[in-house]
Amino acid sequence: MKNPEYVIVGAGPVGLVFSLLLAKQNQHLHLLESRKKNDSYSDKRALALSYGTKLILENLGIWESLENKVSEIKDIHTSQKNSFGRAILSASQYNLSALGYVVSYGALSKALEEAVHQSSKIKITYEFEVSAIKNEKDRSTLYGVNKDFSIVAPLLVLADGGKNTTGLVEGLKKKETSYNHMALVTKVTTEIPPNRIAYERFTSMGPIALLPNGPKEFSLVWTGKNKNIQELAKKPKKIFLERLHEHFGDRVGKFLDSDEFITFPLKKITLEDFPKTGVVVIGNSAQTMHPVAGQGFNTGIRDAYALSALINEFEPARVGSDRFISQYYALRKSETKKTLFFTDSLVNIFSNDLIGLSLTRSISLSLLDNLKPIKNFLVNKMSFGK
Ligand SMILES: Cc1cc2nc3c(=O)[nH]c(=O)nc-3n(C[C@H](O)[C@H](O)[C@H](O)COP(=O)(O)OP(=O)(O)OC[C@H]3O[C@@H](n4cnc5c(N)ncnc54)[C@H](O)[C@@H]3O)c2cc1C
Repeated sequence: MKNPEYVIVGAGPVGLVFSLLLAKQNQHLHLLESRKKNDSYSDKRALALSYGTKLILENLGIWESLENKVSEIKDIHTSQKNSFGRAILSASQYNLSALGYVVSYGALSKALEEAVHQSSKIKITYEFEVSAIKNEKDRSTLYGVNKDFSIVAPLLVLADGGKNTTGLVEGLKKKETSYNHMALVTKVTTEIPPNRIAYERFTSMGPIALLPNGPKEFSLVWTGKNKNIQELAKKPKKIFLERLHEHFGDRVGKFLDSDEFITFPLKKITLEDFPKTGVVVIGNSAQTMHPVAGQGFNTGIRDAYALSALINEFEPARVGSDRFISQYYALRKSETKKTLFFTDSLVNIFSNDLIGLSLTRSISLSLLDNLKPIKNFLVNKMSFGK
């Protein structure tokens, strides 16, 4: 193998997609990952993918290998407990074959990693946790636990996820805000099978999303205040399923069974400042958002796509230059800002249980069901892209 030219820190879905995009452009690269090989395959969180994400995965030949692990979303039912408001979005109204697609993080990681292992252009080193980076004009030195190596690379790409890695490299500054919320994730079976319908229900215990995952199961993502979610996660399965039914209502009949519960603390991370040459931050490492709107990975994959396209456009000697770096962030700034704003608006309107907001929510949902422009906007964003 030729000496790697790019170094990517983090083999999460965004780092993996970026590596495959670069390899497709005939670039050589080295991917560093702190966890063990195969460790992410058991992550059961469901990711709702947009049509744009599907196109990128198709282009990389990944979609084919995922096909029987992906479920389509044809309709989205949005409602609120104890209120008259509700909204229905249907793919057929927009002449789309689907409003989005659902796949588990583990299945996606496995398909991407297998493709990476097959590529002669990508070297991947597991169990290498980068703890510091010295970024000089033409050389980056990466320090890991008991390991370090120096590499002359035009660009170092940080795709190390939602940890706040301020301090990893000089000039990198992030802002971290806790939502004081957690997500509880599991799979559930119900009396009425999914039939390609996704549900989002806003309750006093936080938003409940049911995403069709296979013909018989839904993936549940229940986000809410830390205390409430921690209490729910400790409940015996039978009581948990009863609570879920109580909050979700009767749309899918009774909840029959669930898998193990996994919880995620939720925080927002935004990039405040970044190194002016040699390093780019993408994916959750650049922006971590609440999962209520299912936009985190969909935004991260567009970072990966934009960066690979810019590398393709630039003269090789100028990749990583200050002009290159500022152009990349300028390209991504507007979309990232809008998506974070949209996501936080949903969190604020639908997750706070303040007096008066309940009526606002009912009205918002009724308006949404009746006003075409609002529906169109949501089809583009909340229902995962057009
Ligand atoms: C409950 C939940 C539901 C979600 N649902 C959706 C959804 O429906 N749709 C959607 O688009 N998004 C969703 N998201 C967001 C999505 O999971 C993230 O946006 C996505 O995983 C980001 O990918 P990433 O590769 O940037 O980061 P990660 O997935 O965090 O991967 C980062 C990788 O970097 C490695 N790493 C970290 N630090 C180091 C280091 N110092 N050295 C070496 N390696 C390192 C980690 O081990 C990891 O493998 C959801 C998130 C949650 C929590």
